[in-house]
Amino acid sequence: MPIESHAIQQFRQFHHGDVITADDERYERARRVWNAMIDRRPAIIARPRNSDDVAVSVRFARQHDLPVAIRGGAHNIAGRSTCDDGIVIDFGDMRSVTVDPVARTASAEPGARWQDFDRETQAHGLATTGGTVGDTGIAGLTLGGGFGWLEGKFGMTVDNLLGADVVLASGERVHASENEHTDLFWALRGGGGNFGVVTLFQYRLHQVGPTIVGGLVLHPFQRAAEVLAFYNAFMKTAPDELVAAAVLTTAPDGHKACGIAVAYPGDLAEGERLVTPIKQFGPPILDVIGPMPYLAQQAMLEQAMPPNLLNYWKAEFVPEVSAEVIAIAVDAFSRVPSPTSSVLFFPIRGAASRVRPEATAFPHRGGYHLGIYSLWNDPAQNDANVAWVRRMWAAIQPHTAGGVYVNELGDDEGRERVLAAYGDNYERLARIKAQYDPENLFCLNANIAPLAQKQS
Ligand SMILES: Cc1cc2nc3c(=O)[nH]c(=O)nc-3n(C[C@H](O)[C@H](O)[C@H](O)COP(=O)(O)OP(=O)(O)OC[C@H]3O[C@@H](n4cnc5c(N)ncnc54)[C@H](O)[C@@H]3O)c2cc1C
Repeated sequence: MPIESHAIQQFRQFHHGDVITADDERYERARRVWNAMIDRRPAIIARPRNSDDVAVSVRFARQHDLPVAIRGGAHNIAGRSTCDDGIVIDFGDMRSVTVDPVARTASAEPGARWQDFDRETQAHGLATTGGTVGDTGIAGLTLGGGFGWLEGKFGMTVDNLLGADVVLASGERVHASENEHTDLFWALRGGGGNFGVVTLFQYRLHQVGPTIVGGLVLHPFQRAAEVLAFYNAFMKTAPDELVAAAVLTTAPDGHKACGIAVAYPGDLAEGERLVTPIKQFGPPILDVIGPMPYLAQQAMLEQAMPPNLLNYWKAEFVPEVSAEVIAIAVDAFSRVPSPTSSVLFFPIRGAASRVRPEATAFPHRGGYHLGIYSLWNDPAQNDANVAWVRRMWAAIQPHTAGGVYVNELGDDEGRERVLAAYGDNYERLARIKAQYDPENLFCLNANIAPLAQKQS
């Protein structure tokens, strides 16, 4: 049912930040999310200025029985950060990042992107594990786990979260950390947006760069199977701090290619020595591996994943990049319909893999994240691109480790996949959900159904 205009007027009185509705000339742009396949029309896009505004939105949603979506960087592939006819809490006007260089911590508002975060922290020679594409939001990525170039040395993004300010479904404000609301803090580190609206994230920072050894090599696609086999063997003996990803992609010259992207955030001479085998496996068609600013590493993949394209993704975890997996990936990529699509293997390794699966809500502490990413321009090609992803994903099933990254679950995935994303942590998450959001107000996500405590 449409919201009465007087109710919206009342909402505006209490909400100090911007409020955009369908009659606003900014509405079309404001309702857009990163994946152009998603086309939803919220009744209200509320841009809070502070946690008071967030509490106003939460109470309004409850009072009017409205769906409520939460938006950080709007990159969620399933479009969970928007909705039809409901309210979007859009953190686009809360993007500040404050660094305490002495304590080596950062406080970041939930609208910040990784490029904001990296810029502010690198000004002090500091960083923490974050997304590999700068315009991705810190909020959704952090709450789902967060793999990135620094994970081998410092763990995943969730492993570096120190605390969060949260507006609960009741409108109450709490702080979650190792000392306060510890169960909520555990759940926030992998349980996504199920438990409340985070209005501030606090992170542990580490000394990084400003120069690291990083970059990318590309080889002709004809050698993709050899490159991937080399990659798989190389990773078995690489030290923790070295994180390398393998990718099937299309080179700037329009030819298919197979690449290895690498980062070593330690001693430069040691890094150069460690990446020598990658550089010597050749001859590559492009080699830009060497000392480079950490900020350049973080911007390196920006062009490969531009916003506003049509997207269809599926993800998995595989224990290794085995001969069988390589054969499937190479065969699939030889038929890829769009030059902007890619297949990515990103390891969960080093410090990220030494955290126990039940220590945080993010359970997948090993193997390789496999992303099958279709990106294209022309809506007439929707079926072909969706079918390509599904076909490769089906072929890979016998070789998976089980589980899926919650942040890369698609719009059309069923309950079993949601359960697979949380693994053995699901039941504990469901009990915490019952405590903090018993009526499941925050349900536009990979949803955890509240599970009431058993009466003794
Ligand atoms: C181009 C691209 C690159 C990526 N690279 C990486 C990568 O390197 N590493 C990695 O781990 N993942 C990566 N991802 C996946 C990424 O983690 C997810 O897309 C994630 O959802 C992005 O967060 P966001 O804030 O931009 O998303 P949004 O769409 O804004 O939010 C996603 C969901 O998070 C929840 N949420 C957002 N803000 C809040 C909040 N303040 N409080 C409570 N809940 C909230 C909501 O449920 C929301 O629906 C990438 C995705 C894309 C599209």
